[in-house]
Amino acid sequence: MTVADFIAAANGYYYATRDPLGAAGDFITAPEISQMFGEMIGIWIADLWHRAGNPAFRYVELGPGRGTLAVDALRVMAQLGCTPQGVHLVETSPALRAAQLSRLPAAKHHDEVDALPDDAPLIIVANEFFDALPVHQYIRTTAGWRERMVEGADGKLAAVPGDIPADDTIPVMLRAGGEGSIVETAPVSAAIMQRCAFRLARCGGAMLVIDYGYSGPAAGDTLQAVKAHRFADPFADPGEVDLTTHVDFTALADAARSAGIRTEGPVSQGAWLRALGIDARLNALASASPGRADELAGQRDRLVDAQAMGELFKVMAASAPGWPRPEGFGAKATA
Ligand code: SAH
Repeated sequence: MTVADFIAAANGYYYATRDPLGAAGDFITAPEISQMFGEMIGIWIADLWHRAGNPAFRYVELGPGRGTLAVDALRVMAQLGCTPQGVHLVETSPALRAAQLSRLPAAKHHDEVDALPDDAPLIIVANEFFDALPVHQYIRTTAGWRERMVEGADGKLAAVPGDIPADDTIPVMLRAGGEGSIVETAPVSAAIMQRCAFRLARCGGAMLVIDYGYSGPAAGDTLQAVKAHRFADPFADPGEVDLTTHVDFTALADAARSAGIRTEGPVSQGAWLRALGIDARLNALASASPGRADELAGQRDRLVDAQAMGELFKVMAASAPGWPRPEGFGAKATA
């Protein structure tokens, strides 16, 4: 099977059968590190909504994990008078759906973006969602570009070049890469981004995407496996390790713009959180709980510092025609 089919099958099983988040699990995400992360997203949403003229809207999250981000964002939004008409979660994992409902009892679950209601603008949040979706990998061999296939050999699985020439699939500027070069494409991610964008173009609203990634096209094998907070062999234990890849934000932005909506960024997570006011929020929380000041400052540093999540993680937004320009992306807007 292709690397893409392998990732889809392995992660499908992995997420369906567990809650992988937190210290006792396999990995930790920004909303699980600090309430300030979801709070900044809540402020971003409330600001945009207010400048859009306080319309009725629905809060949507893709792959919401434990629901922590939504709880933190919705609490701050409510304090700012910004209450969505409904909370809609796109989630395939039964285990995580149950965890989400325990935190957000009124939320409605959907298997895919197309199933979301279309009677109001949507504000869509996706944190560490796209990195869990399948990518195809291609490798330059002496005979040209080939898709990488996962096959068994000597009692274990490994990625090997397939038989069919794949040169036409490789972005033109990457085709000259030397033997052994690897290129990834993420058509499932692009399709989901485009579905969201078509919906925003039709119903109004905006989308915020946060993930680790890069501005492509770029060559490189970014497939990673993590188990119990350590790197693992992506092919050794399918369905028992978390598989991720780095997200190509250029490809996501192209998919959004192809549906006729504007995009902003990507900017680094650290810059975005500072622009939204994480330091003021830290000071307020630390003044209210002086005994937790050091812990809170440590959380802020983990989210913002370049050596931690601040630079590797990027933030991108997309917004519907007629909606105001989202906050946090500096002075330069893209058309
Ligand atoms: N956003 C959360 C969780 C990130 S883990 C956080 O930041 O903590 C990835 C999430 O995406 C999980 O909720 C997982 O079950 C979900 N997911 C993975 N593949 C999916 C798919 N194809 N469709 C919908 N949800 C998916």
